[in-house]
Amino acid sequence: MFGVSYQDIIKRINQETNISSEEIELKVKEKLSKMSDLVTKEGAAHIVAHELGVKIFQPVGKLTIDKLIAGMNSVNLLCKVVKLFGVREFKTEKRQGKVANLLVGDETGIIKLVMWDTNQIKLIEDSQIKENTILKIKNGYIKENNGFKEFHLGNRSQITINPENETLNVKEVQLQQEFFKKQIKDLGDNDVNVSVFGTITQIFEPRFYEACPECNKKVRLYDGKFICDAHGSVQEKLVPILNFIFDDGTESIRTTAFRNQAEQIIEKSSKELYELRQFPEKLEEIKNKIIGKQINILVKVNKNEMFGRKELNVQRILDSNVIEEMQIS
Ligand SMILES: [Zn+2]
Repeated sequence: MFGVSYQDIIKRINQETNISSEEIELKVKEKLSKMSDLVTKEGAAHIVAHELGVKIFQPVGKLTIDKLIAGMNSVNLLCKVVKLFGVREFKTEKRQGKVANLLVGDETGIIKLVMWDTNQIKLIEDSQIKENTILKIKNGYIKENNGFKEFHLGNRSQITINPENETLNVKEVQLQQEFFKKQIKDLGDNDVNVSVFGTITQIFEPRFYEACPECNKKVRLYDGKFICDAHGSVQEKLVPILNFIFDDGTESIRTTAFRNQAEQIIEKSSKELYELRQFPEKLEEIKNKIIGKQINILVKVNKNEMFGRKELNVQRILDSNVIEEMQIS
């Protein structure tokens, strides 16, 4: 994919961890099936390496968005701001601060950019970073969130605004965004990263599952402890799943939102949502408020084999007047 072959990655993990090649390849296979068509074999191997704490050499040559893989560190990228989602303040038990979300693009694709450093965020607040600003970024890292890549910047990252002698083909970025847009009736069985605009017409009772606080994956209960395959015994957190019917005028379709996306749609935190289970009438009130809400969402199509129908998974909420995700890295 970019200089490091699949076999080389397996070899390197094997050298660093003493896990047998067969076992590593098994992990890669599992990862691939979990992420379906979202990554290549090499990509899955990179993620496995990252989860095992093995550093794979960085690619040489110019890096573009299509080559980014979850787990990559020290990422340098030239990109253009396609959309600003604004700056939010957050407060958790551990820390408080600000987070900024934006969408950036280059000739090869678009990716969500997440800023955590107040000095960098100030560039947005001062309107030095706007839509169409070209950014030369050094030292970012790629994370996976809901099977979706994100470009994160921390306090060690550097941003150069509108660097000299650097241009980017905006036209193609915009074309690509246009290309992503679809109507529900035209969705294919394997569509990923497609944006759909529509209305929530029905909403079901939120459900919850126990997840790993590190990687957000479902944990198993074993011997009274919650176990994550990647992180061992963890203090589980409850993650909401929200099912709703989404309708864009051409068709209606059953849609599922997890975690932050569920929180954004219902405009409540997971914790608040969980507590609301004891107050059905309040929950009903909230559901009624959400029905009729129009949102623009990025989705992945899932084929429900049991019912022989297509369903949607929300990957990201693109436009909605509710709170942007406040995930702490
Ligand atoms: Zn985990």
